[in-house]
Amino acid sequence: MSDCLFCRIIKREIPASIVYEDDRVLAFNDINPQGPTHVLVVPKRHIATLNEMTADDDQIVGEVIRRAAAIAKERGISAGGFRVVFNTNRDAGQTVFHIHLHLIGGRGLGWPPG
Ligand code: 5GP
Ligand code: ZN
Repeated sequence: MSDCLFCRIIKREIPASIVYEDDRVLAFNDINPQGPTHVLVVPKRHIATLNEMTADDDQIVGEVIRRAAAIAKERGISAGGFRVVFNTNRDAGQTVFHIHLHLIGGRGLGWPPG
């Protein structure tokens, strides 16, 4: 989608600090990191929110989650632990309507989240 911020990052129309890319997935550092590691892992295919997911998206969402775990491992935070989150719509504070998995770690994380 031409007016979607993350589609524009995927198309390199807006710069980002990219940490991983393949044909289907892009991962980049969050511009406002909430921890020593804060990476956004996104499918290249535009899906606005988890509410729009269909069975066709099962594979790509699995890849996004597996990629987040792989980046956590690379960064040495797997054993200590990390958090992955898909915020969905207003009550969860979603601000960019292209699904993105937040990978946050490198510090102790409180629970429950706010
Ligand atoms: P949400 O609130 O939708 O779950 O998360 C959106 C995330 O995107 C936020 O953590 C925010 O800091 C990040 N973000 C917003 N604009 C940009 C941008 O232009 N570049 C990058 N790298 N991250 C962004
Ligand atoms: Zn998009």
